[in-house]
Amino acid sequence: MSRIIFATGNAGKMKEIRMILADLGMDILSMKEADINVDIDEDGSTYEENALIKARAVAAYAKNDIVLADDSGLEIDYLNREPGVYSARYMGEDTPYSVKNANLISRLEGVPEEKRTARFVCAIAAVLPGGCELTTRATIEGRIGYEEKGEGGFGYDPIFYVPELKKTTAELTGEEKNLVSHRGKALQLMKEELKKNEGIDCQ
Ligand code: IMP
Repeated sequence: MSRIIFATGNAGKMKEIRMILADLGMDILSMKEADINVDIDEDGSTYEENALIKARAVAAYAKNDIVLADDSGLEIDYLNREPGVYSARYMGEDTPYSVKNANLISRLEGVPEEKRTARFVCAIAAVLPGGCELTTRATIEGRIGYEEKGEGGFGYDPIFYVPELKKTTAELTGEEKNLVSHRGKALQLMKEELKKNEGIDCQ
């Protein structure tokens, strides 16, 4: 039976992915666990393109396995959907998120509540043994806060306020975030797609 290899080096994401895909009953491996080490240039212009670039690069080394990859970002409407696909590279890859978050808050200075709309977007790509490709996408809508709040999550979570929950995504537990997040929902959709495509020969 095929295994699933997830094209990420991020331990936090692997934990989330294992939880969500557990009921598929398949072995789920990180790139490291599958002994695959490739340097991937994410130079696509959409989340889907970047996710496919990563999944294809790993699939070249994983002929009989399903390879999954994700790409995500934060879109702030008032800033013409910046930082978008450049979310990880915004202000430099190594710049601490406390600095990136403070910068985004300052760029929204004086902007009223109703114009602070934003969303996290996630695309998941799959390359199946035989070469079939699938993609899914999901979002979570929110607003950019006025200060950082919460200790959980990562990245832009402390400034991403979800009005329905009256919390930032950094104030949610991992389980709570998985249920509502862009990545959690895109992975659920991918799980359905994988079930539909089970046994399909795409050679
Ligand atoms: P990646 O493509 O999943 O590595 O995500 C790109 C960047 O988007 C991350 O480095 C974060 O800056 C941002 N991002 C994506 N998802 C989240 C999230 O759930 N919380 C906070 N920031 C996120």
